[in-house]
Amino acid sequence: MTQEYCRFCGVYNLPACKVICVSVTLKGNFTFPVKSYHIELHRNPNISDQVIYPSVVQMFNPLEEAMKIKDEIISWRRDFHMYPELGYEEERTSRIVEEHLKEWGYKIKRVGTGIIADIGSGEKTVALRADMDALPIQEENEVPYKSRVPGKMHACGHDAHTAMLLGAAKIIAEHEEELNNRVRLIFQPAEEGGNGALKMIEGGALEDVDAIFGLHVWAELESGIIGLRKGPFLAGVGKFNVKIIGKGGHGAAPQYAIDPVPAVAEAILALQRIVAREIDPLESAVVTVGKVQGGTAFNVIPESVEFEGTFRFFTEELGGFIRKRISEIVSEVAKAHRCRAEVKTEILGPPTINDDRMVEFVREVAQGLGLKVGEVKKTLGGEDFAFYLQRVPGAFIALGIRNEKKGIIYPHHNPRFDVDEDILPLGTALEVALAFNFRG
Ligand SMILES: [Zn+2]
Ligand SMILES: [Zn+2]
Repeated sequence: MTQEYCRFCGVYNLPACKVICVSVTLKGNFTFPVKSYHIELHRNPNISDQVIYPSVVQMFNPLEEAMKIKDEIISWRRDFHMYPELGYEEERTSRIVEEHLKEWGYKIKRVGTGIIADIGSGEKTVALRADMDALPIQEENEVPYKSRVPGKMHACGHDAHTAMLLGAAKIIAEHEEELNNRVRLIFQPAEEGGNGALKMIEGGALEDVDAIFGLHVWAELESGIIGLRKGPFLAGVGKFNVKIIGKGGHGAAPQYAIDPVPAVAEAILALQRIVAREIDPLESAVVTVGKVQGGTAFNVIPESVEFEGTFRFFTEELGGFIRKRISEIVSEVAKAHRCRAEVKTEILGPPTINDDRMVEFVREVAQGLGLKVGEVKKTLGGEDFAFYLQRVPGAFIALGIRNEKKGIIYPHHNPRFDVDEDILPLGTALEVALAFNFRG
């Protein structure tokens, strides 16, 4: 007989601990407040006063339920993967999702290609979100489920998000009787630069919602690890477009022209000093110029040169500061070179900031399922889940997919990005457990 710690009374030597199991239905202030409990009473002879140690275990095990439908979740993911659709074009994907949800008894509201699906009753509403859009990337993986659509690919894992939440939807519906809350599933379009989250919010996705959770597969994290982070997780995203206007002329006679090229060169370098010299070195921010366009010939001074870029930040104040400094620096540098600048800046999305209490809740639920929980690094990537978290508390959760043995090592948005499908039921189980255990 193997010996181990009794996981409830904490005393070494489990065989010595007599376990009596009973199933009852009750409501109480337990870690897992589902209606049905499986009670184990422990009587440990090593303890002199013979105290009985009761422990409470969830009646149905979300992980076991998710493992039962693992093949189905994988086949949904592969189907979505083979037929990727770009932002706001998710017609096929959303049709399949809607058909299943209707079959399982969900109340559906359509928001364009997005879906809001409700089930259950109770005082609180907990929302779970998946995004459905793909990217304009040509897939380079040679797998049986390779994208069948030229130039389009699920290279961020949103196919996996949709499949995992669909799996959760199925299990939640099967156990609807045991739900204490209303559960709202949000299948949103256009996360990749389209701010689909805002469209869903305008369509009522957050009405009466008390908390929201979203999973994202995470290429930097080892397969199966639930990556959590309190507070700022992903960055706010800004964009700028600049046109510096001089006066065109002959490349051999600069004195008759006003050359915008050196002005642009200097402006781009000067922008780098915002992060290097004006921001607290312990804070994180980025200013990147990603595109420069100007000129027509080697011996012609162009009339104007344009460039554009992005800036990233973790607080709204810092986003506002960078935005203001980009305008000031570019305008003044242009002026110093006798040029004129047209500068457009905009904030595309806020930082994704997790609610500390909700992160603790996810940790407790994930550990209760026996999942491995780790910390995930902040990233200056952006995510439109931020718009939900601006309005209701919740948590954006990373789910590790990196598996070197399977060659799953490529970053998000790479043409060879792939997902370790063995983790899909873990994500489904976590979503189910969050829905059943939420208490506000
Ligand atoms: Zn992405
Ligand atoms: Zn994504």
